[in-house]
Amino acid sequence: MSETFQAILISRDEEKNQSVDIVEFGESDLMEGDVTVVVEATTVNYKDGLAITGKAPVVRRFPLIPGIDFAGTVVCSHHPDWKEGDKVVLNGWGVGETDHGAYAGRARVSGDWLVPLPETMSPREAMSIGTAGYTAMLCIMALERHGIAPDRGAVIVTGAAGGVGSVAVSLLAKLGYHVIASTGRPQEERYLKDLGAGEIIARAELSGPVRPLGKERWAGGVDVVGSHTLANVLSMTSYGGAVAACGLAGGMELPASVAPFILRGVSLLGVDSVMAPKELRLEAWRRLASELDRDKLAAMTTTIPFSDIIAAAHDIVNGKVRGRIVVEM
Ligand code: NDP
Repeated sequence: MSETFQAILISRDEEKNQSVDIVEFGESDLMEGDVTVVVEATTVNYKDGLAITGKAPVVRRFPLIPGIDFAGTVVCSHHPDWKEGDKVVLNGWGVGETDHGAYAGRARVSGDWLVPLPETMSPREAMSIGTAGYTAMLCIMALERHGIAPDRGAVIVTGAAGGVGSVAVSLLAKLGYHVIASTGRPQEERYLKDLGAGEIIARAELSGPVRPLGKERWAGGVDVVGSHTLANVLSMTSYGGAVAACGLAGGMELPASVAPFILRGVSLLGVDSVMAPKELRLEAWRRLASELDRDKLAAMTTTIPFSDIIAAAHDIVNGKVRGRIVVEM
């Protein structure tokens, strides 16, 4: 009989009530796929929090193992790109949403979804970055493609003390930007300045009513909050600037006017990490390996055991997590 391993399983009863349990799983219980990976590290992203708490319909097939990203070692491959012993990273592609995910000792996925773990990175470091950090890099790459550079002016990062925010602050500071960090947690000012923020502004400054145009305060932005915050960020973006939007921590709506677009030529750049093409993923992970300060990464990371994932999922949707969480298996 093949080995069993622990897995977190989200189930639903006939009344659609969701339950989350730690169960014993075997390889034969996993879904189809041409590569099987021993999961060595994973993480808890905001989306994992939504999945486990059931606060948003992230999981679209039951029962399902959640967890949208992992790093580990290939143990079996029928895919031409991968062989036993290869170190790999997976982010998104519906894993933890429609396919069994990372919160298990093993994962079986399509080899097309994997990227190599950068040589200088451990599985733990890769998951300390996780989908949040990889998305922060995708946001920065989107701003750069639009021509944003440190000499164009400051950049704002909203939800700065969260996962995407902390990595974005750290990367942008390293790249030479003056980073304005917006947070609802004033007690995290020291933390954000240590990551490289040059200035802190209160979340409340951006969550109020939106004027069509405000004073021009930044050339670019990385927004994880959405709603009034994103609308205010756009209204204060300087002529020709751009904002990369990737999140909805403050809400899905966008109560904005067209004024920043048609009077200041501001651009709103949508960023999705789940279905991002492989070339972008490889570029993002290559740059994360060389440009993210590892001491800062360590400073923003809390390590938890597998048994604490469910509690951490509740904490992240309640805005209680600072920086990144890494799960050691
Ligand atoms: P975190 O919970 O770690 O960070 C979110 C931060 O947003 C919080 O730390 C807090 O920052 C701020 N925040 C939370 N609630 C509110 C609120 N009601 N109003 C204003 N600010 C709020 O989550 P992640 O960093 O992992 O993810 C951030 C967002 O990005 C999520 O919406 C997530 O779904 C999305 N995301 C999207 C991806 C994509 O592919 N497009 C990929 C990864 C993430 P502070 O305390 O500093 O104010």
